Amino acid sequence: MVVLVAGGSGQLGQSLQFIAPNYPEIAFHFYGSSELDITDLENCDAIFSQLKPDFCINAAAYTAVDKAESEPEKAHLINVVGAKNLAEACKKHDTILVHISTDFVFDGNASKPYTEEAVPNPTGVYGQTKLNGEKAIQDIVDNYFIIRTSWVYSQFGTNFMKTMLRLASERDSVSVVSDQIGTPTNAVDLAEAVVEIIKHTENLKSDLSNLTSLYGIYHFSNEGQCSWYDFAKKIFEVNNISINLQPIPTSAYPTPAERPTYSVLGKSKIKSVFGVEVRDWEESLRKI
Ligand code: NDP
Repeated sequence: MVVLVAGGSGQLGQSLQFIAPNYPEIAFHFYGSSELDITDLENCDAIFSQLKPDFCINAAAYTAVDKAESEPEKAHLINVVGAKNLAEACKKHDTILVHISTDFVFDGNASKPYTEEAVPNPTGVYGQTKLNGEKAIQDIVDNYFIIRTSWVYSQFGTNFMKTMLRLASERDSVSVVSDQIGTPTNAVDLAEAVVEIIKHTENLKSDLSNLTSLYGIYHFSNEGQCSWYDFAKKIFEVNNISINLQPIPTSAYPTPAERPTYSVLGKSKIKSVFGVEVRDWEESLRKI
């Protein structure tokens, strides 16, 4: 089984690289943005022609949520045109697309976990471009998986956990927003869930009717919910860091992009369809 990973140097891309040796039956091929620029259709086509992948994981994205407010064209190019190009290449080369999307497609006004059927209503440029990317894919191919996730962290790249650890090394006190609720996702858990989906799908390839019913949108994060403040508290606890941590309201930490107040993703579908086991967020944080 040949699997192409676009965005191979990002946080999820590196997490996939980290777990790849556990799956010797899969030939992973990781591409950074300099080798595979998803905004360039000819570049995508050339790589697909050469590799003939069974699956393409799109871990590439414009992820600078606040910067997107002042760079909407760039966010659109990567998150919409890039997703569209990969879908076109997948269609041409008979490749199954696994695309990663976000909880930021929702407005955060819910009070119970968002199902895959919940109506998206992004509040910022990043969320809107990610939603438009989902739609572009759905317009081009039927054989796709869109995995929406939230609050991704890992030992790789830039993320909230690493920012908290850096701040703790620089300061005696940190203030963190306590009125936005969501669920952290260990990027390695996400990578494993993606690979489980791929393996399951590969096993069903001979049974097309069964396979067709699997395609669509899925939600994946760790289990449970917390505020960013709770998340920071647990990060410091797990790392034995003693620091003055203060909860603050969103209003005390204004950002260019509005964040959803509540963005917990319901994971019943991925659990029941693929048997994916979802670890509790605190347990997963302790693993790091
Ligand atoms: P990162 O920002 O760590 O990685 C994104 C990668 O995309 C980078 O390596 C970047 O490469 C690459 N990239 C950017 N532009 C292009 C391009 N034109 N062609 C090819 N590659 C490109 O993101 P994550 O790994 O954290 O995110 C993975 C997915 O998860 C994304 O779809 C994101 O939207 C989604 N997500 C992430 C969340 C989070 O908290 N991080 C939360 C919810 C969803 P380079 O650096 O060279 O530009």
